[in-house]
Amino acid sequence: MSDNMNEVPPAEKLWQSTTAELVKTYQTDADNGISEKEAAKRLARDGYNELTAKKKSKLLQFILQFNNSIIYILIAAAIITLFMHHYSDSAVIGIVIIANAFIGFFQEMQADNALSKIKELLVSQNYVIRDGHKIEVPARELVVGDLVNLEAGDAVPADLRLISADNMRAQESTLTGESNSVEKTEDPINKDSVPLAERSNMAFASTAVTQGSGVGIVIATGIETQIGQIQQSVAEVKSQVTPLMKNLNKLGVNLSVFIVAIAVLLFVLGLYTKIYSLPTLTIAIITMVVGSIPEGLPASTSVVLARGVQVMTRKGAIVKTLPAVETLGAVDIVDTDKTGTLTKNEMTVTDVITDEHHYQVTGIGFVEGDKGVDGDVLLDGKKYNWQDDQHFRDLVDIAGTTTDAELVQTDGEWQLNGEPTDGALTTLFHKLIGREPEVDEVDTLPFDSAYRYSARLIKESDHHELMVKGAPGTIFDMVKQSNPSFDDKVWYNRVAQLTEQGLRVVALGFKSVSSDITQIDQDKIADGIQLSGVVGIIDPPREEVIPSIRSLRRAGVKVNMITGDHPDTASAIARKLDLDESIHAITGPEVDEMSDEDLIKNIGRYNVFARTTPANKLRIVKAQQANSKIVAMTGDGVNDAAALKQANIGIAMGIKGTDVAKEAADMVLVNDSFTTIVDAVAEGRHVFDNIQKTIRFLLPTSFAEGLVVLLSMIMGQELPLFPTQLLWINTVSALTIQFAFIFEPAEESIMIRGPRNVAKGILGKMDVFEIVYVSILISALGIFTFDRFVDSGVLTAVLGSTMAVNIIIFGKIFYLFNIRNSYPIISKHFFENKMAFIIIGILLVLQAAMFYIPFMQDVFHTGSIDFFYGWVVPTIAGFIVLVVTEIIKLGRIEYRKRKGQATTLK
Ligand code: ADP
Ligand code: MG
Repeated sequence: MSDNMNEVPPAEKLWQSTTAELVKTYQTDADNGISEKEAAKRLARDGYNELTAKKKSKLLQFILQFNNSIIYILIAAAIITLFMHHYSDSAVIGIVIIANAFIGFFQEMQADNALSKIKELLVSQNYVIRDGHKIEVPARELVVGDLVNLEAGDAVPADLRLISADNMRAQESTLTGESNSVEKTEDPINKDSVPLAERSNMAFASTAVTQGSGVGIVIATGIETQIGQIQQSVAEVKSQVTPLMKNLNKLGVNLSVFIVAIAVLLFVLGLYTKIYSLPTLTIAIITMVVGSIPEGLPASTSVVLARGVQVMTRKGAIVKTLPAVETLGAVDIVDTDKTGTLTKNEMTVTDVITDEHHYQVTGIGFVEGDKGVDGDVLLDGKKYNWQDDQHFRDLVDIAGTTTDAELVQTDGEWQLNGEPTDGALTTLFHKLIGREPEVDEVDTLPFDSAYRYSARLIKESDHHELMVKGAPGTIFDMVKQSNPSFDDKVWYNRVAQLTEQGLRVVALGFKSVSSDITQIDQDKIADGIQLSGVVGIIDPPREEVIPSIRSLRRAGVKVNMITGDHPDTASAIARKLDLDESIHAITGPEVDEMSDEDLIKNIGRYNVFARTTPANKLRIVKAQQANSKIVAMTGDGVNDAAALKQANIGIAMGIKGTDVAKEAADMVLVNDSFTTIVDAVAEGRHVFDNIQKTIRFLLPTSFAEGLVVLLSMIMGQELPLFPTQLLWINTVSALTIQFAFIFEPAEESIMIRGPRNVAKGILGKMDVFEIVYVSILISALGIFTFDRFVDSGVLTAVLGSTMAVNIIIFGKIFYLFNIRNSYPIISKHFFENKMAFIIIGILLVLQAAMFYIPFMQDVFHTGSIDFFYGWVVPTIAGFIVLVVTEIIKLGRIEYRKRKGQATTLK
């Protein structure tokens, strides 16, 4: 069989082939596809259908860890100490450089793994025909010759030659650059050369189906596809650099420059004053530089982010990039769609209005028995023989015929398959007729939220019937076009009676056409359409959304509804959900009429956007962003992709979302649950808090080390600390105490304060002040005790220095308890982070090793210090740090209270 495959014509000519020829060349069957066995064989031969982007090699990733301003300074320090024959110093600095690279490397790997696991959760499935059965196959297992079904919203999984296409259009901008969707047909093209953009009977991997449906034979997979060929040359995936990471990198560079500048200044000053000999001066300056640099900063923050991604995955929010986690915490506005997200999407027809009467339909949900549904038609509360109304009869017929939904019984349970609005109409048919609709379909135009109607052409004995259903305005306009006497005012009033109660309204109509017409032509559809009536559909709001919206409002996040539905329907639902204090609706057409400036100026006044098109969504998001808002937007359709990309956080629904929407989004909600958005915002804030705490912790404790040296030099006295000691302190704390922040639980206030103001950067004025005074406090304690005990002869210089090391370490430990959360230290939150205690235990063991193991004593200039000076004095010093910082914290808490809740919201 595979020998025949060699006769495949050059791929460029495939557009010429007929279905019969294609079936022959690809050894498949136009109805039954290939067999599972054959598929397995071909998969083994050709490999998986995936583009394995060339990843950065592990070695390169490791080497890149050295490309960092902080490491440059350390390398310089290692070389200088080497020339000065301070071999143990340069060895330790060398080890620290390598250890740092390893720490950074493993943390980066961990973050990468977290993200690639998530990518696996997002593989798309395709409907494929094998052995004559329609089955779901993951995109990566497709093989050449497979028959693949495509539908609007699907991402095309491989290169396909279409053998049937129904009103199909595809968006191919990734390949051709053409942003408008192009029509697809199955017809062979009899030309020798056809550019990619004009191969209308082919569908290519990486493009998307925007409308209609089709079936194609897979002609190329993986790197053999057109996109695969292009990617070969560009290979390599770019890893995302987060805005926060950029900030941090910049912070790192600025710090390095600052520290080096001070070092140079000191060096010149030292040479001039001649207090120290040149070697001592050099070592002192290196010590200061090495101590002040917060080596662990970039690594610690990326671990906190990666952990946030994991937590969110567990909660049902798949976040695709690390930056998204942090952005989520800053969200100001959530733009959400209504149907299915805020409402249950369990739609039931409750009202029918025809020219004759306004009827009520009873019976909600499914019942036991072979019909599955039950209900009556009432007029003014009394049972009514609806068959007497010709319009009602037509309406029920159209309802059953034009929908794609199906009412099926599985294991005794009734269930609806298909789009919910369609489902409501199918259910109406079942309820009143008591059987499945019989549909002899000629052609179909599926529902598209940009046009707001669907149509179906049906074969009758001697003619064809064209049936339409859609938004009332759309259908009324059609009717009016061919029948100027149609009184749409009367009808709009009837519709208003339904929308005011929050009902969704669909109008239904039809016309008879000749049997010669076999295709639906959108341009000619309006001609001769007659209206049968409208139906009102309830779609109850989701109960669990109400508290979620309340939480978001309390957290200073606005929730806006964007829907294709009628403004009255949308506003009624918004009120039921308590979306905002007062509801202000605006429609898509009204948005269209506004200039960009007007829209930007006024957009904040509205919270319900009704009758919107996907193009409106994009403008709405842009206008909100122009007001410096961070916008999250939900979407599920193909047409939403642009707005999802534009939003700071695009959110796609995992179940009802299309592949295209999921690809464009930054976050996918596994269970389509609005509540998960609240969790995600909270986790985003939690992550940001922990990053901020890490920085607030790391900077002053590093600066304190440098200051000890700096101040001693200025005072012209013996240095309490050696470079290797400072490197030890930095490395052990990077491996222990810094991790404590990963495990720090979210604070209670996290969802009652407003979103963070991104323009303000990571650290506030108070934070900067805190960094300064804590640095001075810890270093002063170190110098003071060293002087006190060494000058008075109680301790030798070596033991004094040993004590100074522990003063810095205990300063860090006690300061950790201050910075961990913004509650007073004596509170029920003290023991919340159990890991912190374990981590501190490990740190203390390492310190003991440094002091009492002879080999360590040689390398680190330490000595076997007795308990009082080595441990009690540092504990007292640490306690002083805690008391001072706690007093200032209490002041901050009091200050915040005075300013009141309101001011914590932006
Ligand atoms: P939403 O944002 O609420 O999902 P849609 O764009 O889906 O809004 O729907 C807009 C309007 O189009 C609805 O109010 C309804 O009148 C009509 N409509 C929705 N779904 C269908 C459908 N499957 N068939 C016909 N009309 C529909
Ligand atoms: Mg919809």
